[in-house]
Order: sequence, then C-alpha cells, then structure tokens
Amino acid sequence: MSALESNIATAAGFLERFRAQPLGHFIAGQHERGSGREVLDNVSPVDARVINQVACGDERDVHAAAAAAEAAFPAWRAKTGEERRTILHRVADAIEARREEIALVECMDTGQALRFMNGAAARAAENFRFFADRAPGASEGLSLPAAAHLNYTLRQPIGPVAVITPWNTPFMLSTWKIAPALAAGCTVVHKPAEWSPLTAMLLAEIMTQAGVPAGVVNLVNGVGERAGKLLTEHPAIRATAFIGESRTGSLIMSQGAPTLKRVHLELGGKNPVLVFEDADLERALDAVVFMIYSLNGERCTSSSRLLLQRSIYDAFIERLAARIARLKVGHPLDPATEIGPLIHQRHLDKVLSYFRIAREEGAQIRVGGARADGLRPGFYVQPTLLANATNLMRIAREEIFGPVLTAIPFADEAEAAAIANDSPYGLAAYLWTGDSGRALRMAYRVEAGMVWVNSENNRHLPTPFGGVKASGIGRDGGDYSFDFYMDTKNICMAYGTHRVPKLGE
Ligand code: NAD
Repeated sequence: MSALESNIATAAGFLERFRAQPLGHFIAGQHERGSGREVLDNVSPVDARVINQVACGDERDVHAAAAAAEAAFPAWRAKTGEERRTILHRVADAIEARREEIALVECMDTGQALRFMNGAAARAAENFRFFADRAPGASEGLSLPAAAHLNYTLRQPIGPVAVITPWNTPFMLSTWKIAPALAAGCTVVHKPAEWSPLTAMLLAEIMTQAGVPAGVVNLVNGVGERAGKLLTEHPAIRATAFIGESRTGSLIMSQGAPTLKRVHLELGGKNPVLVFEDADLERALDAVVFMIYSLNGERCTSSSRLLLQRSIYDAFIERLAARIARLKVGHPLDPATEIGPLIHQRHLDKVLSYFRIAREEGAQIRVGGARADGLRPGFYVQPTLLANATNLMRIAREEIFGPVLTAIPFADEAEAAAIANDSPYGLAAYLWTGDSGRALRMAYRVEAGMVWVNSENNRHLPTPFGGVKASGIGRDGGDYSFDFYMDTKNICMAYGTHRVPKLGE
C-alpha cells in the first residue's frame, strides 16, 4: 500500500463518524442537533463528493449558545490564571495526541496538502501553550502614582465573545483566537466557516474532554449571513473576533454597532514581495515560491504581488517559471503533493475567472492559467504566474486567494514603494535586499501591519499580527491579544492627604 492509499484509508476511518447524521452544534458541553431541519452539504474539494451534512444554526441555536457562554462566564472568570493555565496545557496535550486525526480530517475538508497540515496541530497546541503560560499574568497592569493618589490598573475579561473563522486553515486559526480568549477568562461561541466545519467540532470536543467546563466554549454551525450575523448581533456577546474577507469585516462592524460590540478584524491582503537587484536571489526565489504556492495560495499573508527590480526581472521570471512548472499538484494526502485542490467549486470558479481577466487586461500568462484537468472532478487549479502586469490591473489589486502570482517590474525604491502602497490592502510585505539601509527605508515606507526582511513569514507568537487599511483592525499575538479580550480598569486610591472640595457648607 502506498503512503497515499494508507492515508486515504486512515482518513476515511476518521471521517466515518461525520457521515451518520448531520453535524450539529456543541452547546453547554453537549452535542446538539439544532432546532431547525435545514442542512448544508459539506463537499470535499478532493473529489467533489459530499462528506457529510451540517446543521444550519438559527435564532434558537445561536441564542442557546450565547446564553450558555453568558452563564459559564462568572465561574470561568473567577478561576485563577494558574487554574486556567493548567486546563489550557491539557488542551494542548490533547490536540497533540490527536494530531493525525486533525491533520487528515483538515486535509479532506479543505484540500490543504498534508505536508503543511501535518504541522497544523502542533502549531495549534503551541498557541494553547503560549497563551496558557500567559494566563497568570493576563490581568496585570500598571502602577501610576500621582501626588495624593495611587492609580493602578488591572485587566478583566470582557465577557462572552464570538469567534468567527474562515476555511483556509481553520483548525489553527480557531485556536489562535480561542486560546487567548480562554486564557483571558472570556467564554466563547465559535462559528466556523460553512465550507470547512469538521475540525471545529474536534476542537470543541478536545477542549471539553481536556477539562474546559461546559459552556465556556460553544460551537454553532451554519451560514455566515444567518448564524454568523445573529451571533454578531446578540446582546450577550461583548466582542467579535473575526478572520475573513474585508467586505465581511465591514458587515461585522455594522451588525455589531447597535450593541456596541468591540471588533477585531483580520482580513484579506494583496501582499507585495519586493525583490531588489542586490538581494540574495537564491533565497528570494525560494521564499517567493513558498509564500504564494504553499497552502494553495489560500493564505492571508501570501505574497501575491511580486515586485521585481527591472534589471533582474527577465532572469528572475525565467527561473521562477521553471520552478512553478515543477510544482506537484495532487491529492492532499499524498506526501509528495505541494498544491492540493481549492476549497470549493465557487472558489475555483472565482480563481479561474482571474485567468480570463488577466488575458483581457493584457497580462502574460507565463505558467498555468487553467484548471488542472487531469484531476477532475476535484477543484484543482494549475499554479499560475501572471507576468508583465501593471498595478492598475485587477489581477494586481484584488485578492485572488489561490496559487496565482502577479509579477510587476519597478525601477527604483521610490517606484517600488509607490506600487507596494497603491493597494486597498495592507496586511504584510516582504523585502529582499542586501542593503540594510534600503531595508530600513523600505520597511518604514511600506504600508503594512507586518514586514518581513529577507524572510518568508516566520511567526513568533509574542509579536503583533494584523493589518492596516482594508486588511484589518487590531492585533493578535502576545499581550496584544489580551488588549482585545480584556478591559483595562483604573483604580484611583487617595493617600487621605488631599483636600476634598466642600460644597454646601
Ligand atoms: P468570509 O468572510 O467569507 O467568511 C469568514 C467567516 O465569516 C465564515 O465563518 C462565514 O460563515 C462568516 N460570515 C460570512 N458572512 C457573515 C456575516 N454577515 N456575519 C457574520 N459572519 C459572517 O471569508 P472566507 O472566504 O471564509 O475566508 C477567506 C478570507 O479570509 C480571505 O479574504 C483571507 O485573506 C482572509 N483571512 C485573513 C486572515 C488574517 O489573519 N488576516 C487569515 C486567514 C484568512
């Protein structure tokens, strides 16, 4: 049996439990079928076949989940940080123990290649461990003494929060939000993406089995426009942590406005990678390929705009095209696969539409530019390089969210900065140069929440993660996460020495 066949057989075993009945919700520590009869088909991108059905959460389900989170909040916030740390480390242990199941189910549900999803559970466990260790200090504040008063601050959890996540790497992204929320003392209602609901249920079960009390984490499945919307409007929910598209982010803000919800938005990107002629071009080439073609290009921080200095443009494109042509597109459970199928027929159609747009706009389709036909009916697309583009083209301005790279030449630093910044988005930017002064100048000028110099996106959990402009509001990571999930309270105590104003004497 080949490794692929053996992985397919193991994955089928893990998926079996989902086929018996529609996947429901997880509320107050219990599996719930949901109050309505409406279900969605959950389709595997590998072969376009239905894996299972998923319940569509409605008003009653969302209310039950929000009420459970509200009821569980006082006891969870009353736990000490040390107690929460112990429980969250147990969650990390339990995630690691089920890493194979998580990886295989995630691959079949999303189309992401196993070579990348193998590490997803480890990173998710790391998220829990990182925030677990910070739980005891999460409420710490400042001492701000004045002449006659001592002011001190402390942080307290904001309350029940909504966590709404996308489909690209759903398990890892969910933990990136839920772990700091729980460490802070908040309770959670999670609404995963309707195209990738499976590992969210595994996470809810794992957390509960590891000792997270009933009601502290709840899960409602369903469509965004209904279950997600209801959640962001619910009065018991104090804040919404959202990862997804920019236009959904703007809806989340307006839906939460009547109840004055705090929002944290991690949104889309059209991230530039700037390669200067003085760069280490070997390493730059590796990073350029990795940052757009890993994770099927379905990655918010993908470097989807390649800005190349004109003097190296032709030679770099030549070498890049050769590498792209050798990328291995195939079944996500094949250990050799580098690019799996896209998440859904609708997303495949969207990505394919940009090949037509590229032709109409006059860009050159240097590599790819079509569906990977041999792999039908799966939603596979050829890794694609669109060359000789300008930054005015839609292929340079809109987030395609697939294995599609748009290459644009530039002359000098000024033009590189102008092109990089001429975008509605501002999530990440990547700079490749051997000149440290140039790196500093460009890092300062480029409009992005995160800049990597001579590196692919290398994550360090204490650092702030987030974007500017249409790429988001707020930062995750380290203490920044607690700024969102907690309120800062100031307490002002008098030494008893100051004169209290007297009225009505
Ligand atoms: P999406 O915005 O369509 O959906 C995200 C989630 O929002 C889903 O759970 C969906 O059901 C829900 N939703 C949809 N409409 C809603 C509404 N009106 N109210 C409440 N919830 C609603 O995004 P997607 O297509 O699932 O994911 C891809 C997008 O996510 C890309 O734009 C990508 O860049 C972005 N993303 C950003 C980051 C980041 O950290 N910045 C990370 C990963 C993905």
